[in-house]
Amino acid sequence: MRHLAILGSTGSIGTSTLEVVRAHPERLSIVALAAGRNRDLLQSQCEAFHPRCVSVGSKEAADWLRSNLSYRPELHWGDEGLLACALHPEVNTVVAAIVGSAGLASTEAALRAGRRVCVANKESLVVGGVLMHEAALAGGGELLPVDSEHAALHQLLDGRDSTTIREVRITASGGPFRDWPLARIQTATIAEALNHPTWKMGPKITIDSATLMNKGLEVIEASVLFGLTADQVAVTVHPQSQVHAMVGFHDGSYQLQVCANDMKLPIQYCLLYPDKQPGPVAPYPWDEARAWTFEAPDLERFPCLGLAFRALREGGTAPALLNAANEVAVAAFLQGRLGFWDIQACNQEILDRIPATPLGSLAQVLDADRAARRHAEGWVQTRT
Ligand code: MG
Repeated sequence: MRHLAILGSTGSIGTSTLEVVRAHPERLSIVALAAGRNRDLLQSQCEAFHPRCVSVGSKEAADWLRSNLSYRPELHWGDEGLLACALHPEVNTVVAAIVGSAGLASTEAALRAGRRVCVANKESLVVGGVLMHEAALAGGGELLPVDSEHAALHQLLDGRDSTTIREVRITASGGPFRDWPLARIQTATIAEALNHPTWKMGPKITIDSATLMNKGLEVIEASVLFGLTADQVAVTVHPQSQVHAMVGFHDGSYQLQVCANDMKLPIQYCLLYPDKQPGPVAPYPWDEARAWTFEAPDLERFPCLGLAFRALREGGTAPALLNAANEVAVAAFLQGRLGFWDIQACNQEILDRIPATPLGSLAQVLDADRAARRHAEGWVQTRT
């Protein structure tokens, strides 16, 4: 039986996770739920699943829940609340779905405490992947990737002799600007960038899909998760988002992983691994006629993808710097303070300006994160 803490229960991964839990009452139970600002949805989730431990973003929201819930769970708030949920003694599985570097410490602590951690927070792998591996190793924790491409790779690579593998490829939908000319991409609006063709996701990751920064972060994530060099990870644009990843062998052949583009599938994979059970998603409809297309990504129109490869090659704190710069730039774009093309300019500026250092500790990662944010904020202010 998997006893879950969901960190980020009101976001898109969190709500999909609860649907998977609903489909497997005999295998999955909810012990803890943590959310940030959406106290109303958290309240209704609590009434439906009765978690014993609950955390929310602020003390005020925790007080509000205390007087509005029909039962009395342990109530926490803030960063300590995330840790209380992740480390609750009855929890053996943590779904880490907090967006951004805010999710780092709880992911690390859960791995160190020997939990299975289903990581949807790709930032924790991108900026501190080596440290997450160390934490898992030290505490006996188990790291499973919820990101659809990486769950696909995990399935393809599971039990494989790594010396047979030449490369892995993750697919990218190409986002809303896949076939737009450069000049039009450069002046794209917020509404255009939020209009993702295949996946329905939160605003940060949707903008990252429009710049292909999301795919860049996923390249770093794949390298970290599976111990691959920058030359062994590649990206193929596949607008239909039905093939999620491929593994290429030394003999030139490939294996592909295919499923509907529904996040409940990779979530269930991570929660039930190594079991495969019927769940909330129907088997793939092979009898419906369809066409799949594949093309190479264009780094000129999507420079953020190239910046991610650069950060991966530079190593150390470079991915943390890039990730932090990008978070600042995307937030500024969503607030109307930056243009779409400024996002890549800000990211490049930070990589050029701040030298990467080798990765030693979580504190050091957080320092690099803060430095990059400070510089990026300063850069944004010069543009507005
Ligand atoms: Mg993904």
